[in-house]
Order: sequence, then structure tokens, then C-alpha cells
Amino acid sequence: MGIKENYQMIKEKIPEDVTVVLAAKARSAEEVIEAIDAGATDIGENYVQEAEKIYKQLGSRAREITWHLIGALQKNKIRKALPIFDVIQTIGDYKIAEDINKRVEGVGGKIVPVYLEINIGSEITKYGIKPEYKYIKDLIQKISNNLENLRVEGLMTMGPRFGDPEKSRLYFRKTREIFDKIKALDLPGVIMKTLSMGMSNSYRVAIEEGSNMIRVGSAVFGER
Ligand SMILES: *Cc1c(COP(=O)(O)O)cnc(C)c1O
Repeated sequence: MGIKENYQMIKEKIPEDVTVVLAAKARSAEEVIEAIDAGATDIGENYVQEAEKIYKQLGSRAREITWHLIGALQKNKIRKALPIFDVIQTIGDYKIAEDINKRVEGVGGKIVPVYLEINIGSEITKYGIKPEYKYIKDLIQKISNNLENLRVEGLMTMGPRFGDPEKSRLYFRKTREIFDKIKALDLPGVIMKTLSMGMSNSYRVAIEEGSNMIRVGSAVFGER
């Protein structure tokens, strides 16, 4: 099956209010255009440099879609990232949020929606914030109180990688519980609307556990 059929099949299988972000790392502009033609609305890139290349190649079509940064952001890439990305899903600590906030001022003081990346399995090899409710809540409050150019709009998690998606269920559930608790606080300046979790092999389980944004690569584009 081609990109179009794959994308549309996923859309048919999932609830309408779940956003599909195409994880487009190492894919060509042609492949991305095929997905946009099939109805794709959101694209995720892991690397700023790669995003920049595809963004340019898409020309006027680049603005038809919403751009998500789904890989860790290095301080020296922030300036290049800001004009491309509409959402930064990978805030892993206060420092990077502060650095981004500082640089937004340089590009005309827009508000950048950000998600906090939660290292839900507490894996030492993985990027992200430790999965402790109070710690996450305090960090969100610190961001919203001090960084006027950012707005926290959700949580993102990769979850530990398992062959069997059922093994991820508990991790997705834990992330959902933290999300719901923070959302219920209705913190000023915070709009907890997006829970970004689930990939090609796990999106069904993630949606069952409350995800409203999935990030899929190989299920749409084929194996790399
Ligand atoms: C690659 C990637 C995905 C998608 O992975 P697939 O298994 O190809 O669906 C999702 N999220 C992030 C952060 C990724 O890097």
C-alpha cells in the first residue's frame, strides 16, 4: 500500500478528535507531499536541519501543515527552529524553555506552544522529565509564571520501546493520570489540551489510554 492508503486507513480507524502527526524523519519532500495530498495536517521532525531542508523544498505548501519538533532541541539550533516549528513537543527541563523564551523575543514575540516530554519509564538513557506529578506541576508553573513567550499546552511521551504494545499500556496510563491531574488544576496561562503519545506499533493502545495526538512514521511511510 502507498502513503495515501496508509494515512487514510489510520484516519478511518481512530477517533476524529485524535490528531495524527506524521513522523517524517529521513523522508523526502515528495513523500511528505504525498501525505499532505492524502489529507495530512501535521508533521513532526526530529532534527532542525532536516526540517529546514524539507520546509524549503515544500515551498508554499509548507504552510498548509502544522510543524512539530519531536526531537530534542539544542540551544544553538533554537534560532533556526523558531521560524519553522509551530509546536515544540520536547521541553525536557527549565533551562531549554528559558533559552527558547529568550530567543522568541528576537522573532517578534509570538507565543510558542510547548509540550513537556515525560520520560515515563524513568530510563536513564532517555531524554525527558522524571515522571513525578509534583515535579512536573512545579515545572509547568515555573514556566508559565516566568516565560511569557511560551505556553504549556500538553505532555508528550515516547514510552519505553517494546515489541508488544500491550507492555506500553501502563506507561501510557501513568502519563494520562499526570496529564489529567494537571489539567484539573486549571493553572493560569496553561492550556492542557494535548496528550501526545503512541507511535506506529502502539497508537491503538495509546488512544485507548487517552492519547489525543499520535506520532506515526513507518505505518504511513513504510519501514525505513
Ligand atoms: C520516529 C518517531 C516516531 C514515529 O515512530 P514510528 O515507529 O516510525 O511510527 C514518533 N515519535 C518520535 C519522537 C519519533 O522520533
